[in-house]
Amino acid sequence: MGKLEHYFIATFLVICCSCSDTPETKKTLPNFIVIFTDDQGYGDLSCFGHPTIKTPHLDQMAAEGQKWTQFYVAAPVCTPSRAGLLTGRYPIRNGMTSAKSGVLFPNSAGGLPQSEITIAEVLKQKHYATAMIGKWHLGHLPQFLPTAQGFDYYYGIPYSNDMNAVGEWKEYLKNTDDPNYQADITMYDVPLMENNEIIERPADQRTITHRYTEKAVSYIQANKDQPFFLYLAHSLPHIPLFAHDDFKGKSKQGLYGDVIEEIDWSVGKILQKLRDVNLKDNTVVVFTSDNGPWLAFKSHGGSAGPLRAGKGTTFEGGQRVPAIFWGPGIVKPAIVSEMGSTLDLIHTFATLSGTKVPADRKMDGYDLSSVLKGTTEVSPRSEFFYWTEAKLYAVRSGKWKLHIQQTEPIVYWNKTEPLENPELYNVEADISEKYDRASAKPEVVTRLKQALKDHQADITDALPDNLAAKVEGE
Ligand code: MG
Repeated sequence: MGKLEHYFIATFLVICCSCSDTPETKKTLPNFIVIFTDDQGYGDLSCFGHPTIKTPHLDQMAAEGQKWTQFYVAAPVCTPSRAGLLTGRYPIRNGMTSAKSGVLFPNSAGGLPQSEITIAEVLKQKHYATAMIGKWHLGHLPQFLPTAQGFDYYYGIPYSNDMNAVGEWKEYLKNTDDPNYQADITMYDVPLMENNEIIERPADQRTITHRYTEKAVSYIQANKDQPFFLYLAHSLPHIPLFAHDDFKGKSKQGLYGDVIEEIDWSVGKILQKLRDVNLKDNTVVVFTSDNGPWLAFKSHGGSAGPLRAGKGTTFEGGQRVPAIFWGPGIVKPAIVSEMGSTLDLIHTFATLSGTKVPADRKMDGYDLSSVLKGTTEVSPRSEFFYWTEAKLYAVRSGKWKLHIQQTEPIVYWNKTEPLENPELYNVEADISEKYDRASAKPEVVTRLKQALKDHQADITDALPDNLAAKVEGE
């Protein structure tokens, strides 16, 4: 073969390799859908033990997929939990939790920094279509909206559905002894946005779950021939509760149950759509919640089932959430009682899509794809750190969890103090964190104290100066 022929063959190969990202191969990349509810507790689905709320679609999703029983969110409140899910980093690393405030408000000037890399941005390495539908809560100003963080399309509310309250917010709280108490939508002047425009104000929350669902289903239809990532973060069941007329008054649990049953219907619509357009074998759907139930709101808050406490706390009820992974062509059905976290989704999706997570910063997640595929039963995650605002509260390592900071169910933020005597629980044997084993297991206390110290140093060392000043408890 002459030199010229070598040149042509080499050129041909280069052209072929550069063409490997054709529409044909793109179709074989898996799609990802994350369905993220707001303030839904560990115990609010029938498949996680709720006795009166009916969730047949989620139950079927769990039976066909993997139900994870020890799955954690990155924080026990909205904003930092979302930052952790999208970036695979504890939110203390990116300023989405601070000593001043646990969440963003309508008057907040900040948001998730541009320098953070989201799941949507990682998947853009392979030209995924990306959409965010629902509650964002990582900054409502244009430079912080989903369209600035890798999402091609956004439809939803920019912060919580109880914000911009008109009148006294405690009014709702007072009425929550009544499971069917109904607020008026005009009491919450929350905008509904499409991309960067406000299209409705106040958002009609009575139909919002239905509208998110319609948008999600039509997005799947429109993108069925290319890989996509859809992040559907329901505004509900965060208070104030609203249900569509088709669901109102149907659940034995009351309005909260109506809301969950409507979300269950929505999940059924999305999975059915994937079946209808032949994407069920090439899509992974994750269903989980952003934090535990807001127990202060009585019958309008959910249930953490057997877990202790709820939203805003670092007890298990605050940060352990129901999680279901579905994908008949990818996910091997199982009940997984290993540890996992929303922090792990970015790594897991990167592996499944052949993309890369950022290598220029500290990441806090693990790749769960081998467990999803059933090639191993052991999760790579064996530890988890519990942060609230800018304080480290607890650590879990294997079955042991050490609390170093007082934590209580809250309405709004209570200031807490370090525990004089740290409390140690075996959260696998003592699932409700009732029996302190610290004095019986001093060697475990010592080991976990060191793990906390090492983690604190790892976080602090990597923080930019402007965030380091906001960390407490060092
Ligand atoms: Mg929440």
